[in-house]
Amino acid sequence: MKKALIIKLIGGNYTLVDLDTKEEFQARARGGLRYIKVEPGSVFHRTVSQRTKKETEILQVSPKVGDYCYYDDSEDVVLITEILPRENELSRPDISNVDQLLLTFSAVEPDFSFNLLDKFLVLAYKNDLKPTLLVTKIDLINNEDLKNLKANLSYYEKLGIKIFYVNSLDLSTTSKEEIFLENKITVLAGQTGVGKSTFLNAIKPELDIKTGEISKALGRGRHTTRHTELYKIRGGYIADTPGFSKLDLDIFEFGELKWYYPDFYDLSPNCRFTSSCNHLKEPGCEVTKLVNTGDILQSRYDNYVRFIDEIKSKKRIY
Ligand code: ZN
Repeated sequence: MKKALIIKLIGGNYTLVDLDTKEEFQARARGGLRYIKVEPGSVFHRTVSQRTKKETEILQVSPKVGDYCYYDDSEDVVLITEILPRENELSRPDISNVDQLLLTFSAVEPDFSFNLLDKFLVLAYKNDLKPTLLVTKIDLINNEDLKNLKANLSYYEKLGIKIFYVNSLDLSTTSKEEIFLENKITVLAGQTGVGKSTFLNAIKPELDIKTGEISKALGRGRHTTRHTELYKIRGGYIADTPGFSKLDLDIFEFGELKWYYPDFYDLSPNCRFTSSCNHLKEPGCEVTKLVNTGDILQSRYDNYVRFIDEIKSKKRIY
């Protein structure tokens, strides 16, 4: 069976890239396409989801950009015959198997927001996405502030998050090869004004199209026909995203938020109430103890408490 990656969807027309020949061609989806859904599980429950893989659910779905699929080209019209299990999927933009979420933040103008970073991270983990951080405009901040920013961000590096720092003018300070991994799908996200387009412009030689067209194409897609596309970059792919613009914690129950904090998760066995501890005001909480000793970043904990309040107040309204 021939295997391909879906890189573009407009209306019902898919563009596929054969994984062996790298040839690009158009295809349609066969009717009644089956897709095997793996039980949902967070990144912290990989072993559980592996075990439950046997008890899979068979659903009918439409192929998405980012899907790996089998196809049949024996007839005039190439048909997608099967979609392979998805590692993860996003609905805005409609992309599956995202290998990396490249979160873009500026050091200044707008100021670096740890609140926004923490919010992006819980949403990334909830969606099974691997976040990488791109910090822009580091030449526009004074040395002292940059030193503090880097010191605080080193906490996140310890959580396994890769961080790249780039200058507002010379983006060659960071090697693009390190950011864009071979054959991997990266989704770019971040507030407006953080320098996403500047960054994309700097790496434009690697892009097949003008960067401005990425947002335009995706923007148009949201309003009229469905259009999602992956652009080739450094042997991998990138999708710009207007999604994640509205960062909503609605999808969380307050008691589950803690599971998307790998640093808290690792400590909960040491809390007196173990997994039922929400690390708020419970006695014998290891997390709050380590916030006090400075081992957990204070701002990260404060944001956690804020998010809990946010979730609780929203639920009360309904
Ligand atoms: Zn606790």
